[in-house]
Amino acid sequence: MVETNVLTESSVFGQIAEYQHEQVVFCHDHETGLRAIIGIHNTVLGPALGGTRMWHYTTEAEALNDVLRLSRGMTYKAAISGLNLGGGKAVIIGDAKTMKTEALLRKFGRFVQNLNGKYITAEDVNMTTKDMEYIRMETKHVSGLPESMGGSGDPSPVTAYGTYMGMKAAAKKAFGSDSLAGKRIAVQGVGHVGTYLLEYLQKEGAQLVLTDYYEDRALEAAARFGAKAVGLNEIYDQDVDIYSPCALGATLNDDTLRRLKCQVVAGCANNQLADENVHGPALVERGIIYAPDFLINAGGLINVCSEVQGGNRQSVMTQTERIYDITTQVLNKAEQEGSHPQAAATRQAEERIAAIGKVKSTY
Ligand code: NAD
Repeated sequence: MVETNVLTESSVFGQIAEYQHEQVVFCHDHETGLRAIIGIHNTVLGPALGGTRMWHYTTEAEALNDVLRLSRGMTYKAAISGLNLGGGKAVIIGDAKTMKTEALLRKFGRFVQNLNGKYITAEDVNMTTKDMEYIRMETKHVSGLPESMGGSGDPSPVTAYGTYMGMKAAAKKAFGSDSLAGKRIAVQGVGHVGTYLLEYLQKEGAQLVLTDYYEDRALEAAARFGAKAVGLNEIYDQDVDIYSPCALGATLNDDTLRRLKCQVVAGCANNQLADENVHGPALVERGIIYAPDFLINAGGLINVCSEVQGGNRQSVMTQTERIYDITTQVLNKAEQEGSHPQAAATRQAEERIAAIGKVKSTY
């Protein structure tokens, strides 16, 4: 196979240094065609946990960038949630439809095993529970297994609960009350998490507007939750109090920001800010309270953590409920510091890692 983009040594180490990763493992197997990268960002708090994504990356540089960015995000998500986990992620390069085989997945599992628990994998884009079962045949360092295999099961309901908690905390900051009764809320994406979130919002008496890439899914959710379904691009123009991105990343960008009429943004999607340093401050300038994504969507990680470090559904829900208080803390901190919530949340996560790192500095 001819590689069109061969990374130079300096560009690889340049990127690793930029994000301050501890270790990046390149995995290759000639027989199965496996090409994977495991990114271990930071293990001060505990083993690096994060899913494996299989994607048909156009370039190797794109794959490396993805794994570095995603694993760093996991570090912050775990740290701000008070978990004793580090941040990691893995990417397998290739078309999941044509290249994913039992042998490839098990070979990947052996690379995970070689890390002796420093990295714990889980499901991510284009990976299924069945794939995790194959990886599990070669390593015990797998999480997010189905309940039937002793795992913590579907994380989506827990993610939705945390998102709901974060939304209420942001509502309290914006409107003086955390009640969502009568609040007009636009939900973008009614998949796994979006649907569970709509249940909470309907129960509280919110007025709901929603959209989804699949029209039938949107119409079905609208009928079920008494909501109004709108077109994909219309969601940004709705006259609402809260916008809840629950589908894709980067929906807070130059185009959408000037269209939003809401006072709060709180949703479960990862990487909502197209450019954190531009759109984080821009939301503040527009008087919009932003509940940081990696903080309020941490419920799924809290759920998986219980599988690795112990806990039950009750303790998971109690811990997820704390997202309300942490969001309040972060929003107040951002206001006091004159920064934006995403920056304040990142700093809070970094401060915890630094403090616990010192605790661990003696035997
Ligand atoms: P999902 O795939 O079940 O749902 C996403 C929904 O968004 C789908 O119904 C899809 O059709 C829709 N969608 C896609 N493109 C869209 C567009 N342009 N406009 C409107 N709708 C669109 O995924 P999910 O598990 O519900 O996760 C949703 C988001 O939350 C993702 O960004 C995910 O990374 C993030 N997240 C999920 C979890 C979890 O526990 N599942 C945890 C943390 C973060």
